[in-house]
Amino acid sequence: MLFYSTNHHLPHGFKEKVSFTTALLTGQAPDEGLFMPEFVPQLSENQIKGLRNQPYFKVATEILKAFLQNEIEEETLLELTRQAYTFDVPVEKVRHNPNLYIARMDAGPTASFKDFAAQIMARLMNKLKSENQKITILVATSGDTGSAIGEAFRGLDGINVVILYPKGEVSAIQRKQLTTVGENVKALEISGKFDDCQLYVKKAFSDADLQNLNLTSANSINIGRLLPQVVYYFYMYLKVAADFEEVDICIPTGNLGNAMGCELARQMGLPVRKIIVATNANHAIPEWLKDGKYQKVEPSVNCLSNAMNVGNPSNLARLFDLYGGTLDKNGLQHREPDLVKIREHITGFEVTDAQTIGYVKDFYDKNQILIEPHGAVGLFAAEKLETDNTKTIVLETAHPAKFPEVIEKELGFSPELPESLKKVINREEKKTDLEASYETFKNWLLTNIK
Ligand SMILES: *Cc1c(COP(=O)(O)O)cnc(C)c1O
Repeated sequence: MLFYSTNHHLPHGFKEKVSFTTALLTGQAPDEGLFMPEFVPQLSENQIKGLRNQPYFKVATEILKAFLQNEIEEETLLELTRQAYTFDVPVEKVRHNPNLYIARMDAGPTASFKDFAAQIMARLMNKLKSENQKITILVATSGDTGSAIGEAFRGLDGINVVILYPKGEVSAIQRKQLTTVGENVKALEISGKFDDCQLYVKKAFSDADLQNLNLTSANSINIGRLLPQVVYYFYMYLKVAADFEEVDICIPTGNLGNAMGCELARQMGLPVRKIIVATNANHAIPEWLKDGKYQKVEPSVNCLSNAMNVGNPSNLARLFDLYGGTLDKNGLQHREPDLVKIREHITGFEVTDAQTIGYVKDFYDKNQILIEPHGAVGLFAAEKLETDNTKTIVLETAHPAKFPEVIEKELGFSPELPESLKKVINREEKKTDLEASYETFKNWLLTNIK
């Protein structure tokens, strides 16, 4: 299995195919496209049913080996997934609506779904890079990515992690998570916006002065983030579906990485009828699905579900590509994808902040189940779009305790911290404050990363 760039059709596109190792370690393709597998491996009904009741790490090995088998031994993969996945995907039923299922993606070390990708990606990078190779991972984060990546890479030899986050734009607990990892993981608090952080990271990758640092990304454009996000759809489906029935899956969406995992799972053979892409006011995808014209939201809108405040979802280039289209990183469409086909499988839905807040409270009152704003966006969309008795699995992408402000305000009590977050509370914060300037950031890198 080799990997190509989503920009390969463009006149200056990168036309070669590379190994998974190269794609993983470089992050972005040389033409600034995103890497994609050259074909979608197929699993038969019997193969999928055979995964029922298997532990998560075994399901992960079966799915990942379909993409990685010529680069990593199955034995090794089994060992890495066993170390990575020490947590489960609890699935909850909902009292007031028997068709709804909540897949809790918050049981990992940083209590967000990003742990599922980060934990195995770190181990794969560590295994697949050459022994003396030193790499530096740059992550711009608006909350959950940074801590999931930091936690996953902590203590790994030869790998530095530098996290950039915008001052005042992450919640208190998220900042605590970002700044307390320590060791080889450095936190930079930028006096700017998330967009500034993301811009500096992008600039750094193409900055010749920084070549020696072997910079790579762990943002959701990295293929090493995408493939692990295929796995849990098989796992949760088998927990919910009785035989081989079709289900709908609803995903609170920002950069579309999570939903792309679902689309790949569907194309591999998982019986998913509809994928519901639920967004906050950053509605570029629902609007595009409606009227067929893609227009990014610029600047992005600050909403309660802050991990979804993305105006130009990077992984949309992958969806375009799977359906014959080309979209560049600036959100410019070069070839039209088959929108009729896309609409057969994917539905968009936008949820306002007011609907989100109201729903957190309503859902608790009806079911005594606590959800947070990202999950609320998904559950609200799923219920609005429900037309028949098909089961719908909704992903709750973070733990409610990561968003105590909303819960306290709406429900009048504080959510209890999971063990993973309790540990963080007492750790010492360590961060470097930097003004919002690329030059300052660059100088910091040159002085501090060896
Ligand atoms: C990152 C994140 C999302 C959005 O996921 P994408 O893959 O970017 O669509 C949703 N919810 C939470 C809690 C997140 O951390």
